[in-house]
Amino acid sequence: MRTTVLYGEYELAVDDKNRLSIPSEIRKSLDPERDGDKFFLVVGVNHRLWLYPDRAYETLVSKLNQPSLLTNGPVESIQPEDARWKISAGSKSDQFDAVIVAVPAPAAARILSICSSQLSAELAAISYSSSITVGLGYDRDVRESLPPGFGFLVPRSEGKRLLAATFVHNKFPHRAPDDRALLRCFFAGLTLSIHGQARASWLGPT
Ligand SMILES: Cc1cc2nc3c(=O)[nH]c(=O)nc-3n(C[C@H](O)[C@H](O)[C@H](O)COP(=O)(O)OP(=O)(O)OC[C@H]3O[C@@H](n4cnc5c(N)ncnc54)[C@H](O)[C@@H]3O)c2cc1C
Repeated sequence: MRTTVLYGEYELAVDDKNRLSIPSEIRKSLDPERDGDKFFLVVGVNHRLWLYPDRAYETLVSKLNQPSLLTNGPVESIQPEDARWKISAGSKSDQFDAVIVAVPAPAAARILSICSSQLSAELAAISYSSSITVGLGYDRDVRESLPPGFGFLVPRSEGKRLLAATFVHNKFPHRAPDDRALLRCFFAGLTLSIHGQARASWLGPT
């Protein structure tokens, strides 16, 4: 399959509705049938954002060397070995030139404990709290009365139990009927603890 490769560097700004306008020069060079009508925006190897037409990106992913991908295999340890990094996952282990650790801090603390006890202790000290998500559905009147945007954050100084709410009908329009408002509210902290059972009894008006 033929794919389109785009070259060039553009400085683009995200507008106040969080949209990114694709330069017309790029759009004109694309054929929706051949390239698809969407884009993937990913962090490239040079740490800049790279834009791919969706078909080109799917082709790229399909060409990944599948046997070199290990999924559903929790990493147990990462440790230096022969100037490289040895990664052990279940019965398998292998060496790599570089490693990116992108797991939650408690998991990183465990898998890096042999590598650096100090780093592991610092990661283990990062505290996490449980959270509760509450979905609220409203009718058209409420939807029309809400401000535009994807939701809001509640400053800590407000002293509320509600941390944030997402206007799901705006952020993920396919998840709500056109004439309904769907709000996803986040509650955390205070009486919630990752070690204890989350208590919801206090959930009243905030
Ligand atoms: C309820 C909720 C709603 C959210 N909504 C939004 C939103 O609307 N928009 C938004 O931008 N962000 C949202 N976020 C935040 C977003 O989900 C996180 O910021 C994002 O997922 C963090 O990505 P990550 O890759 O750093 O970590 P994670 O997504 O936590 O990925 C870490 C991965 O590491 C894996 N892992 C753990 N241990 C091991 C191990 N030993 N070996 C191998 N793999 C391991 C885990 O299985 C997991 O897949 C939301 C978060 C929550 C909780």
